Amino acid sequence: MAINGKVVLVTGAARGIGRGIALRLARDGADIALVDMHRDKLDEVAGEVRELGRKASIFVADVSDRAQVFAAVDHAEKELNGFDVMINNAGIAQVKALEDVTPEEVEKIFKVNVNGVIWGIQAAADKFRARKQKGKIISASSIAGHDGFALIGAYCATKFAVRGLTQAAARELAPYGITVNAYCPGVVGTDMWVQIDEGFSKITGAPKGETFKKFCDGIALGRPETPEDVAALVSYLAGPDSDYMTGQAVLIDGGMVYR
Ligand code: NAD
Repeated sequence: MAINGKVVLVTGAARGIGRGIALRLARDGADIALVDMHRDKLDEVAGEVRELGRKASIFVADVSDRAQVFAAVDHAEKELNGFDVMINNAGIAQVKALEDVTPEEVEKIFKVNVNGVIWGIQAAADKFRARKQKGKIISASSIAGHDGFALIGAYCATKFAVRGLTQAAARELAPYGITVNAYCPGVVGTDMWVQIDEGFSKITGAPKGETFKKFCDGIALGRPETPEDVAALVSYLAGPDSDYMTGQAVLIDGGMVYR
């Protein structure tokens, strides 16, 4: 109950890791502002949050659009009567050899994974300062933000960028009592990995499921990661136990990338 009564906004909350974070933080006692591009699934997650006894609000927004991210933060504050933690979780994957990736594809993935995080940092910092309060900003990086992996080069570049933004924002916002950190999952069994696995199959000819299995074979703890594994770290980053941490991009991957 460390974050009892706090208001947390989660982007990409309709499924996967975002949904897992929303439910975990609701269990921790927070009210959750759910933001995603997909309305239908957001309603389901809101129902799950409410079943846990917490308030949930819903806002449909594309994080690549700065005005929509600012509007999402305003909506969360108004609906839930506060604003304490911003989780920039929404992101997209892309499987393509660097030699083949097009300008449109590079632009698309950077608009969501990098620009979306910048708008999230801006909107949250603006709100914390307007409310004259401390706050926490937490963003999704990845093992792919620590190591470059073949065939997901542009994705890796966006996740390395999230680490850079996290460090810079931590230094800029520390004077306001705002901390900025990131979580770096490994291989989480979400819809995103279904898409990555399919993308690898198209290029390498690997049968369906084989790329996922190959990546999982490299996990020291011997199983794929779950959204709950990631959410446990985010719970720490969102709570008071991490008050003295800022600028970090913390790996939680079952033992894949060691830093
Ligand atoms: P997912 O594809 O299962 O879910 C992503 C959610 O984000 C979806 O609900 C989608 O609608 C939403 N979304 C996508 N683009 C959006 C946009 N422009 N605006 C608003 N919402 C948008 O993905 P996931 O596996 O849950 O991943 C969540 C985050 O964690 C991503 O940033 C991803 O890069 C990162 N991550 C995932 C893994 C993994 O193995 N799955 C590993 C490391 C990092």
